[in-house]
Amino acid sequence: MFEQVTREEAEAPFFVGIDLGGTNIKAGVVDDRGRVLWRDQVPTYVERGPNDGARRIGELIKRAIAEVGVSDDEVGGVGLGSPGTMDIPGGKLVVPANLKGWEHFPIRDEVSKVCGRPVVFANDATAAAFGESWVGAGKQFDSLILLTLGTGIGCGIVIGDMLLDGQHSHGGEYGHTVIDCRPDAPTCSCGRRGHLEAFASATAVTRRAKAAL
Ligand SMILES: [Zn+2]
Repeated sequence: MFEQVTREEAEAPFFVGIDLGGTNIKAGVVDDRGRVLWRDQVPTYVERGPNDGARRIGELIKRAIAEVGVSDDEVGGVGLGSPGTMDIPGGKLVVPANLKGWEHFPIRDEVSKVCGRPVVFANDATAAAFGESWVGAGKQFDSLILLTLGTGIGCGIVIGDMLLDGQHSHGGEYGHTVIDCRPDAPTCSCGRRGHLEAFASATAVTRRAKAAL
């Protein structure tokens, strides 16, 4: 769970975080100690395309800052977490499985244009892992691995003060580790066979349970 704080008790600078998902875009504002001041979410509407998405993410960032009542010089940064695969240094999505039609879109800079601020781009699971290592379940540990369980299996890895990105955010794509080498192993969401995600994601567990009944 996260700690909440009122605007009066919160300590500047403030940070805006966006989690771009296939269903919802979630936003939050935290203070310098990682305490939550504000959060909200809007539907992603993947089918409307990435330009519409970037515009609405930018508007959400502006609304977050306005509703919290933070002045320009109190905003320490804006972070955008997105599902892989992605080109993190280039600020682009590559082929995100749950954002069909958004491939190769320069989302970091397009969001930045709308909200009028620099935006830092990170893999969603890596950003979640950093949050847990900063103020959450992993704060007493030097390094940690975080797994996210849903339609797929996401993974973020923090080693000391370093985030393991890897090329195209593959550093933490633990869900696509081969655990079954048989030629007829279950097919993964990425199209290949025998990956952990094809066995252990929430979707896969539900499918396997139904098949076993
Ligand atoms: Zn896979």
